[in-house]
Amino acid sequence: MNIKNNPEWITASTQEPESTRKPHILFLFSDTGGGHRAAAESIIEALQLEFGDALTTEMVDFLLDYAPPPYNRLPEFYPDFVRIPELWGVGFLISDGRRQARIMTSTMWPIVRRAARRLVREHPNDLLVCVHALGTSFLLRALGSKRPPFITVVTDMVSTHALWFDQRADLTLVPTEMARQRALEFNMSPDKVIVVGQPVSERCSTPAGDRQTLRQKFGWTLDKATILLVGGGEGMGPLEETAIAIDESGLDVNLVIVAGRNIKLKADLEVRTWDNPTYIYGFTKDMPDFMRASDVLVTKAGPGTIAEALIASLPIILYSKLPGQEDGNVRFVESVGAGVWAPEPLQVVRTLTRWICRPNERLNVVENCRQAARPDASRRIARILGEQLGLPTKG
Ligand code: UDP
Repeated sequence: MNIKNNPEWITASTQEPESTRKPHILFLFSDTGGGHRAAAESIIEALQLEFGDALTTEMVDFLLDYAPPPYNRLPEFYPDFVRIPELWGVGFLISDGRRQARIMTSTMWPIVRRAARRLVREHPNDLLVCVHALGTSFLLRALGSKRPPFITVVTDMVSTHALWFDQRADLTLVPTEMARQRALEFNMSPDKVIVVGQPVSERCSTPAGDRQTLRQKFGWTLDKATILLVGGGEGMGPLEETAIAIDESGLDVNLVIVAGRNIKLKADLEVRTWDNPTYIYGFTKDMPDFMRASDVLVTKAGPGTIAEALIASLPIILYSKLPGQEDGNVRFVESVGAGVWAPEPLQVVRTLTRWICRPNERLNVVENCRQAARPDASRRIARILGEQLGLPTKG
């Protein structure tokens, strides 16, 4: 289906004459973690590259701006919430299922309906693209048939929560075949679920220089193995303990530690005296180049970070995960041979020691990353969205 099949909605949403009006895509995301915003931004970037100014786009944090209290404070509380992973895991497990999803959306429906209708009224659009599990089923139920076409872009790799999947969505785009199989278990129609990869920024495929040039640019020591440590957008998991274990291990390395938006973690890291050259950052826009300049990534099992590392051919050590939601990401990384699960700091040190002492082992993992990478995911998604809007593709 594309919007040409839905003239009723065009009439409802547009205030400009048809001849001058450009199709408008509304992206629904929320800042719970860094991944949803990054996914939406990378698709918007790809749309601009594919279609130039033939369309317009807009992003709305639907939880922050439209969810009724206290749900509108979820982005604010999310970092505290995920700092108790066991709590998150229990919440994920008890809410993940078709029956639970139905109960949640039906009980919340009266509250969500008004907010959802206000959202589409205040942001008229021709296509809704939702990149957050809490958007899809709630909004589709609340909006009923009075809505523009709705596409879900699933941003969890494998253990995708039931709320992502709703048969009312016009299309559901998923990152892996494993996620597609899960969608089919939820009775999604096979022709409406497409595997496209995890959307990541164009910059991941176009590094600003080779490894040495980038290290020079960032002021890192040039002649040492460089270990990049990341805990997602919020700096989650035992990042500090893991960094200290590496520093005290006797390995002669550069440590590049990204604390993300975790201000306390950054401050704690900065007061410590490190044995190795250590570079500490808060939230950085340079992640694609940091990855290209590094030899190994030590990270929480966030889907965005994993997809970016595959494109950078950067072997992955997963030191932490969100129980339930990110379990499948660990399985995915191990199944493609792109890295290992090492939940204890000493396991991280052991893997690093192995990869540094036996370079061929690390190079095998580099090759596995290269093969598993999907650098074209955002472009593919952009072309699918353009097709829905009836826009001609380039070439
Ligand atoms: N990220 C970033 N700068 C930082 C920390 C993280 O740009 O300082 C990006 C990272 O490259 C990835 C996203 O934030 O694109 C994190 O997404 P992921 O799905 O890995 O984890 P989340 O934060 O959603 O748990």
